[in-house]
Amino acid sequence: MHFNILTIFPEMFPGTLSGGVVGRALEKGIWSLDTINIRDFAINNYGSVDDEQFGGGVGMVMRPDVLGNAIDSIKERGKIIYFSPRGPTLNQHMVREFASDKDATYTLLCGRYEGIDQRIIDEYNIMELSIGDYILSGGEVAAQVFVDSVVRVMDNVLGGGNEATANESFEIGGLEWPLYTRPSAWRGRNVPEVLLSGHHGNIERWRKQQSDEITKQRRPDLIKEK
Ligand code: SAH
Repeated sequence: MHFNILTIFPEMFPGTLSGGVVGRALEKGIWSLDTINIRDFAINNYGSVDDEQFGGGVGMVMRPDVLGNAIDSIKERGKIIYFSPRGPTLNQHMVREFASDKDATYTLLCGRYEGIDQRIIDEYNIMELSIGDYILSGGEVAAQVFVDSVVRVMDNVLGGGNEATANESFEIGGLEWPLYTRPSAWRGRNVPEVLLSGHHGNIERWRKQQSDEITKQRRPDLIKEK
């Protein structure tokens, strides 16, 4: 899988993506990335990539001529995604979809300021994608969330194979059950007996029941969706 990342802060990459299982997958060549510095396509020597908003109002907007030239400089673009609070919110189902083609290329456009000129979205038929109902100062963090979550579910990225991702919150139709490890007694708190019993049927039932209860309490919307 390949990612082209359009940003005015190329030094932010790979950033958090260089660590852990996703970082190892980068080293192994399971995925790769190119950063394209939008400033290389600035309209002047001051490096301007933005301008005032037509119609008035505070905040600057990224110019279509600059962004268009930056996008055109990429040969293999694949699907172009612009991170924006206006898009559908990324969820694990969508993550699976994006990850399903291991040879896919995604071009990720990181906005700054108030965002980008609408004509760029229209011209390139760009998909907008949000990572949640809050406002970030830029799309770079969103791009890292996207790459991390997508690469993570690709084959040969997590140890433990498919099972490691299949058992997770959202993948099981709800939220995860409580997790425990050694020591079995800690500060007077004991690990639930059933988990030490070695009885797989009982353990499975307990986990399912815990998961259902937590999901019902915290995220009833996940149950209705099913
Ligand atoms: N004026 C915009 C917010 C701009 S925030 C609005 O009201 O919708 C600056 C940039 O941060 C955006 O261009 C986008 O790329 C990124 N960004 C902010 N919040 C985001 C979110 N929830 N999901 C994805 N990207 C986001």
